[in-house]
Amino acid sequence: MSKILAVVNQKGGVGKTTTAINLAAALAMEGLPTLVVDCDPQANTTGGLGLGRDDARMSTYDVLVGNATIAEATVSTGIELLKAIPSSKNLIGANFELVNGERREFRLREALAVVKEQYPFIVLDCPPALDLLTLNSLVAADGLLVPMQAEYFALEGISELMSTLDKVVSAFNPTLVLEGVVLTMYDPRTSLSQQVSENLKKFFGDKLLQTTIPRNIRLAEAPSHGLSVMEYDPKSRGAEAYQELARELLKRNKVVSPREKERKASA
Ligand code: ADP
Ligand code: MG
Repeated sequence: MSKILAVVNQKGGVGKTTTAINLAAALAMEGLPTLVVDCDPQANTTGGLGLGRDDARMSTYDVLVGNATIAEATVSTGIELLKAIPSSKNLIGANFELVNGERREFRLREALAVVKEQYPFIVLDCPPALDLLTLNSLVAADGLLVPMQAEYFALEGISELMSTLDKVVSAFNPTLVLEGVVLTMYDPRTSLSQQVSENLKKFFGDKLLQTTIPRNIRLAEAPSHGLSVMEYDPKSRGAEAYQELARELLKRNKVVSPREKERKASA
């Protein structure tokens, strides 16, 4: 099995990058080769993985404009099985440079097709916009993972995202599905959080993932050290939550990871 998950929500600050980094890291730590692609010109995933600025390095931009293959742009990270395609500032220009380009929506999909079978999971971190970069991710993806904050206006913007999903399905990528919605920065003690999560449950049904990501300072601190939260503070609630999210997604996709096999064998 090989699955490309786009972490998408056109709202900024909802936990896309935090989810992309830590989910990809947790999947790699489960023993599964994983690739994370930073599709955001802000390059927060790139920085959060400890990949400092390097203007000589190939990036997602080079892949989209055809300067580099995925293999040429792939770099190692501090986590053994986790590889990354870094972002760079010039990625913002790709939106304009590709606007009249041939098969401009399919650039990432076609580039990833060559390496797809090498990775059980490829995670795409999207920018906070429904632009051509996000469109490339949606066209490349098999499933959307939508991080949402449990706040009063959580559903605002979601109808726009869902109608974008429908449009991408009918125009470019008929097999794209909503993989799941994950609540981030969740505080179960507040009645607002509970109320919002109940509403989302009604709206999304079993697409609302059971795992919730709590508000946890370790998650905010880890990227400034260039580490996933599992490396930075493995016992933190944030680390536990992202490991749980990885296991929930594996279970839903009926993937038994090497670590899961070991856990079963020793149980
Ligand atoms: P996005 O990529 O959607 O813009 P980020 O993942 O960058 O969102 O998160 C926005 C900010 O919130 C960042 O500073 C991040 O460190 C912080 N953050 C994200 N998730 C959590 C969490 N569960 N607990 C605490 N801080 C978080
Ligand atoms: Mg981000």
